[in-house]
Amino acid sequence: MAISTLQPIVSARGGSFLLETRSPAEVFTPEDFSEEQRQIAATAERFAREEIVPAIPAIEARQPGVMQALMRKAAELGFTSIEIPEEYGGMGMDKVSAAILTDHLSALASVSTAMGAHCGIGTLPLVWYGTEDQKQRYLPKLATCEWLAAYALSEASSGSDAMNIRTRATLSADGSHYILNGEKHWITNGGTAGLYTVFAKIDGDKFSAFLIERDTPGLSIGAEEHKMGIRGSSTCPLVLQDCMVPVENLLGEAGKGHHIAFNVLNVGRLKMGMACVGGARHAMAHMIRYAMERHAFGKPIAELGLIQRKIAASASQLFAAESMVYRTVGMIDASLADVDANSSREAQKRIEEYAVECSIIKVYSSEMLSLVADDLVGTMGGYGFVEDYPAERHYRDARINRIFEGTNEINRLIITGFLMKRAMQGQLPLLKAIKQVMDEVTEPPSFDGGSEMDSLLSHETALLVAAKKITLFSAGVASQRFNTGLQDQQEVMADLADMISQVFALESALLRAQKIAESKRSTAAVAAAMTGLLAEETMGIAERAARRVLAACAEGDMLRTQLAILRRLARSTPANSVELSHTVARHCIQAGKYPL
Ligand SMILES: Cc1cc2nc3c(=O)[nH]c(=O)nc-3n(C[C@H](O)[C@H](O)[C@H](O)COP(=O)(O)OP(=O)(O)OC[C@H]3O[C@@H](n4cnc5c(N)ncnc54)[C@H](O)[C@@H]3O)c2cc1C
Repeated sequence: MAISTLQPIVSARGGSFLLETRSPAEVFTPEDFSEEQRQIAATAERFAREEIVPAIPAIEARQPGVMQALMRKAAELGFTSIEIPEEYGGMGMDKVSAAILTDHLSALASVSTAMGAHCGIGTLPLVWYGTEDQKQRYLPKLATCEWLAAYALSEASSGSDAMNIRTRATLSADGSHYILNGEKHWITNGGTAGLYTVFAKIDGDKFSAFLIERDTPGLSIGAEEHKMGIRGSSTCPLVLQDCMVPVENLLGEAGKGHHIAFNVLNVGRLKMGMACVGGARHAMAHMIRYAMERHAFGKPIAELGLIQRKIAASASQLFAAESMVYRTVGMIDASLADVDANSSREAQKRIEEYAVECSIIKVYSSEMLSLVADDLVGTMGGYGFVEDYPAERHYRDARINRIFEGTNEINRLIITGFLMKRAMQGQLPLLKAIKQVMDEVTEPPSFDGGSEMDSLLSHETALLVAAKKITLFSAGVASQRFNTGLQDQQEVMADLADMISQVFALESALLRAQKIAESKRSTAAVAAAMTGLLAEETMGIAERAARRVLAACAEGDMLRTQLAILRRLARSTPANSVELSHTVARHCIQAGKYPL
């Protein structure tokens, strides 16, 4: 449906943003939404306002049946079946439309979590890997939310270490059933789902996935967890005691379940990014409105510099996260444009290409949401700390995003590890780019690049180029020092991941700001100011992270030489971030919300 709007959008290789230069026309942004997509956003927003927000007290109190009723209402509008093919009762729409829905429905984290688990990690394994019979049996029920879906990988002793699960499956003597024994922990929708995708090892070694109906003999659901946040969503353990699963319910191939488990998490991470963006927009609306209404020292606190700094920092990071999310789903849709609608495995492979972007979005967006929630509490002072106002809930709800779908520590390791692996396999010319930068930086400075560029956002563009070079230089030093042992240097890997993520965030924001400016929209000034703030932040983060990496790799004269190179790469005149903050805050206050 939206493909025609995406024609110029480039389905670049995953991770290539670090090496290649893109033009604004080549990236998808919310400003490119088609008319139909705008309507989807408006319908989702109306649903959030009229159905989700009034139900918040009942959902958070876990009043029986409220969440399920809400999900069914959402299903009637097609919200929960957007990625299910039409022949199984779904809408079979593009990923941008799915992203818009997830984003604009995110008025309450408990609902976003339940929906994300249902539509994403709960349903997509079946869409991608199910047999025709399995799809016919289950997808129509999931499309209407007659049954909710859950994804059960984690166990008490293996969360991050997911390959180490202990749940076992053995084939029954007559070959008709797999008999599963074990326990799953922390399962979202655990108490409400009708269908569970459960991971177990056949004969203790072949990692496999099984579709298990709720009333299967031997499956029992444990008590609800009492959680810090997302209290309205169901999280339960599952107990499998001689659970009899028909052999027809093996999902995908025996021994290949890890592909299912991990590939679906890429989409889970992307969806989480969308939900964080939507959640942050709501939190920002509270922050800005409160700052405008609350008076101190004879004026609204929105006029105070330090409150404006909070508003501006939150808005800028939200802008970056939103830009990355839509850029990535735009690339995915462009990449899927020539994939046969029935070839769901191929579609899944194309999505997997963007695993690095998905992990970056997961880490950046979850940390962005934590910042926004913290700034909301800070802006509200004492009122931010009591349950009578939404700030306290936003603050509690935000924390889980840094834990599930792979902790942020694990995702940081994935970001650098995946790029390095691709480079080693020759799939991404990262090593060539690193060599180029290493050659360039070891030559004396030419002093011919100092002339002031006066094109649009030229200062921010120059900082992006510098941030890329700092990242490649640091990656080069680290791989020379540790070689294949780099993956065991977790702190170095995480610092490199932060640099890589900042580059993707800044470039996505910058290209979007340029696109907005080129189309002469009224939001051009605020988009440019937010990009200015992000560019300053990127340089600060990149330089600090690079110093740590270099110090971990060298000492003495070698370290001093490398630090001199870093100083040269990082040299720039700081922008006036006080003025930029004022500009961003002023636009937020005028709009009474996040201004884009
Ligand atoms: C509310 C909620 C809902 C959930 N929903 C689901 C669900 O629907 N389905 C499902 O399968 N699971 C679900 N989970 C489980 C979740 O995915 C795990 O909690 C998460 O992956 C972390 O695993 P863990 O809790 O065992 O922590 P651990 O893996 O023990 O991690 C503890 C700490 O050690 C760090 N750590 C671990 N290994 C490494 C490493 N190699 N390098 C560096 N640091 C490391 C972690 O980052 C973390 O900081 C949910 C959890 C919660 C709390």
